[in-house]
Amino acid sequence: MNKLTKKVVVVGGGIAGWLTAGRLAAKHKSNTEQGLTVVLVESPNIPAIGVGEGTWPTMRSTLSALGISETDFIRECDASFKQGAKFAKWVDGSEDDFYYHPLVLPQGFSQGDLAAHWLAKQGQAGTKSFSEDVCFQESVCENGLAPKTIRTPEFAAVANYAYHLDSVKFSVFLQKHCTEKLGVTHIIDNVTGVNSAPNGDISSVSTENNADITGDLFVDCTGFSSLLLGQHYQVPFKSCSDVLFIDTALAVQVPYDDADSPIASHTVSTGQEAGWIWDIGLQHRRGVGYVYSSKYSSEEQAREVLAKYVGDKFSSLTVRKIPIVSGHREKMWQNNCVAVGLSAGFLEPLEASALVMVELSAQMISEQLPQSRDIMDIAAKRFNETFLYRWEKIIDFLKLHYILSKRTDNAFWTDNRNPESIPESLKEAMALWQYRAPADHDFTSNNEVFPAASYQYVLYGMGFKSDYSQNTYALDNIDFAQHQFAQNKKLTDKAVSTLPKNRELINKIIEFGFNRI
Ligand SMILES: Cc1cc2nc3c(=O)[nH]c(=O)nc-3n(C[C@H](O)[C@H](O)[C@H](O)COP(=O)(O)OP(=O)(O)OC[C@H]3O[C@@H](n4cnc5c(N)ncnc54)[C@H](O)[C@@H]3O)c2cc1C
Repeated sequence: MNKLTKKVVVVGGGIAGWLTAGRLAAKHKSNTEQGLTVVLVESPNIPAIGVGEGTWPTMRSTLSALGISETDFIRECDASFKQGAKFAKWVDGSEDDFYYHPLVLPQGFSQGDLAAHWLAKQGQAGTKSFSEDVCFQESVCENGLAPKTIRTPEFAAVANYAYHLDSVKFSVFLQKHCTEKLGVTHIIDNVTGVNSAPNGDISSVSTENNADITGDLFVDCTGFSSLLLGQHYQVPFKSCSDVLFIDTALAVQVPYDDADSPIASHTVSTGQEAGWIWDIGLQHRRGVGYVYSSKYSSEEQAREVLAKYVGDKFSSLTVRKIPIVSGHREKMWQNNCVAVGLSAGFLEPLEASALVMVELSAQMISEQLPQSRDIMDIAAKRFNETFLYRWEKIIDFLKLHYILSKRTDNAFWTDNRNPESIPESLKEAMALWQYRAPADHDFTSNNEVFPAASYQYVLYGMGFKSDYSQNTYALDNIDFAQHQFAQNKKLTDKAVSTLPKNRELINKIIEFGFNRI
């Protein structure tokens, strides 16, 4: 039977649910007669996870594809600009130990290998960190500056940027937009059962107070419970806790000292004895959390570490404890059910890779939505291949941060460098990068999540040295390199002297809004 895909049921109303419903509804014109029917059902009493504040630059195109105004989003989601991550105390744990993973590519990245030249000038007077010498964004962040001005149009950038956002407000904002503008039908009810068709597909889900909800495609956005893919289809969970050791988060919301306190332009990730602390500046508060491994720290010790980081205010804050299981389902799409968000998997939020996976999933499902059931298995196979590849690559990239550390203060750090905990794929890549910088050809898929530039920022930020001594001709194009270093200096000076402070721009957006073109 060639059943057409006319109705999609999204189960779950966290960010994954609303972003997926929104993408589908926007692309397939759910607000018109002929459009796809998109129904989102969410529980009235199972709250969304309520954390997840760091995003990627992809969020700009996602919001734009949903027809959302950047001004409205910033006003309603307590959002601020994020221009990358500052990793403090990851290399040796000393006070001045930090490096940046900015969002702007190294200067001249597509034209030549500046990393070789930067490595060659080590020890020379005036040489700065890799990220500072090849990218103007580190200085922008260190000065607390915004990535654009009030005259820059919505979603356009002077310096590439993402957002920090309040995830609870973001869900509410998306819900309003999806139901009022995009034609998504919203049902508030608990899903209590899953009903099967003879071919094993889901024919409908049962609810507590409404009739069964039928559909042609079901999207599982039920968070860690993975109600459809995990519980109904029993698709196994592939843990990676042997590679990434973090298993617990303690999260707090820290008020600013006053309404004009500066807002950091980047996520700060500070290495601690058994994990690391994230620090994210929103408009009205900071989101701070310690993610650690319970094998290497008791909860009591972890609370002390977090208290020391937060300071005096800590005693008045509510601490939320969230267990984390690192890994992902062995496949994400089974029969007519696809999982998006925490129901598909989760890895520690070191590089904010969860929401970008939601965005990429929602985009692929909406763009490749199978017209009918007879081609759905092909779409499922391709989706699974694409996302399994992405999960594995993210695991490698996160692990990279740990294997380059030289910290010895806790077995958490030394065990992270145990070769048995390092995936073979990462070992292979590291073997190649002994002699040259990561380059585009190391990443041969269209489905890469982190580009070669990101690997360069982490490797050279953490003191890794590729040995170019047998390959000195890599340094032949000295004019190119000098030009790019000089150009970066010029761009840095210009950005630092022209961009407004982060808080100043946000205040202006709240008052006047961006230029809209
Ligand atoms: C400590 C921590 C820090 C994080 N930091 C980041 C970060 O910085 N950046 C980032 O990208 N991501 C981060 N994440 C991940 C991010 O929070 C999630 O990926 C994101 O919020 C999406 O969650 P979700 O929608 O998949 O699940 P949830 O938010 O858990 O939503 C699940 C939904 O399913 C519904 N539901 C469940 N059962 C039923 C049922 N029986 N019937 C009906 N509805 C049901 C619930 O009501 C809820 O609406 C972090 C996660 C953690 C744990």
